[in-house]
Amino acid sequence: MANEPLKHVVAGGGAAGFFAAIACAEADPSAPVSIYEAQLRPLAKVRISGGGRCNVTNACTEPARLVAYYPRGGRELLGPFHRWQPRDTMAWFEDRGIELKTEPDGRVFPASDDSGTVIDCLRGAAAKAGVRLHLGCGVEDVTRGESGRGYRVRLAGGGSAEADTVLLATGGGQGSAGLAIAGRLGHAIEPPVPSLFTFHVADPRIKDLPGVAVPAAALRISGSATMAAGPVLVTHGGLSGPGVLRLSAWGARELALKHYRFTLELSWVGDRPAATVRSELGAARSAHPARRLVTWNPAGIPSRLWERLLAAAAVPAETLWAAASNAALDAIVSQLTAGRFEVSGKSTNKEEFVTCGGVRLSEVDFKTMQSRVSPGLFLAGEVLDIDGLTGGFNLQAAWTTGRLAGLGMAALRRD
Ligand SMILES: Cc1cc2nc3c(=O)[nH]c(=O)nc-3n(C[C@H](O)[C@H](O)[C@H](O)COP(=O)(O)OP(=O)(O)OC[C@H]3O[C@@H](n4cnc5c(N)ncnc54)[C@H](O)[C@@H]3O)c2cc1C
Repeated sequence: MANEPLKHVVAGGGAAGFFAAIACAEADPSAPVSIYEAQLRPLAKVRISGGGRCNVTNACTEPARLVAYYPRGGRELLGPFHRWQPRDTMAWFEDRGIELKTEPDGRVFPASDDSGTVIDCLRGAAAKAGVRLHLGCGVEDVTRGESGRGYRVRLAGGGSAEADTVLLATGGGQGSAGLAIAGRLGHAIEPPVPSLFTFHVADPRIKDLPGVAVPAAALRISGSATMAAGPVLVTHGGLSGPGVLRLSAWGARELALKHYRFTLELSWVGDRPAATVRSELGAARSAHPARRLVTWNPAGIPSRLWERLLAAAAVPAETLWAAASNAALDAIVSQLTAGRFEVSGKSTNKEEFVTCGGVRLSEVDFKTMQSRVSPGLFLAGEVLDIDGLTGGFNLQAAWTTGRLAGLGMAALRRD
């Protein structure tokens, strides 16, 4: 009995569940490892990730820098990233024949630009390692075994399975069965709210300018210390782009409390001080006195937006630079560096979205991803209160926590 292999059950056949099951089965080939997946097709989010291309990880390979991309979970992920980081993820896929490519912004994709490549690789590796995959077979509940050891896993359709270890890798989101199960097993749950969303803004300065983009804006939630920087894109309904997504991530909980109605402070010229921008406009006036404001745009933003900002500053676009008063330049600087926009709601970003919230991180041992509350229970992926910015960071968190959980499960021994 003492040498009998442990039975391992993984609830959820997503990125974290597959990575964990494969690691567990490879580390302890004698132990049966089963994935129970509620849907008929596993890895559905991997399939749609990165617009179907699967942004599998990010080329940031320095753990101390990597953790800065996680509004929640960065501190806890530092240790795990020393054990499994993007370089390991890339090597794992490349060792299994998947060619990867890194885009200039650091995002890593399969060279095929097809998430199917990643899915086939994961399914192949799981099959090779002997992982048993049960599809269309959701986990409804997990309770402690009657003798106080192990777990009984209740399955949709009335069946059940006995397990020595159970990994909850059921993803995030409101109404997640995994969160409810973790809660019943004694875990505290940070309330799930969306992260990575775009802003609804109806404002004459950006009306009918969809597609207009600025490369380096600075954004802040008015009255708060939460800020972000990055490209901003005007959409049909408001504002999007990496800068907006970053602010939505850092402010996910705060903005949920505000019901997504708040004032956005936006500098279209990044964090350049107003005084610097003012002297640039003064220099433009001296250098190009005979040009009109509308035809000489020194702000480095698209000319259609420049025209709107002139209008918002109540400065006629046809004014000659020589005739632009100091007050007019001050008003333009204010529009460029300190715009205020009323946000009235949010939209789902179709490219990538995640859940902020999940199982409280202090209740998990990040060396093994084992629960500190319920021994033999493991947690990985988005079911945890971990979420990252866009760029491959969310899948990397799933790979890392999944890998450590799988190894942690395989390392458990009967006492
Ligand atoms: C549209 C979109 C695009 C994205 N693109 C990217 C990207 O390019 N790069 C990136 O890094 N991140 C991306 N993400 C985020 C990333 O996909 C997730 O963070 C990651 O998939 C989380 O992995 P997971 O295994 O924890 O959860 P999931 O991938 O959600 O997997 C959980 C699995 O558990 C199953 N399940 C749920 N409940 C049960 C139950 N009770 N019993 C059994 N099974 C259950 C689900 O069906 C699912 O298959 C994207 C997300 C979305 C929505």
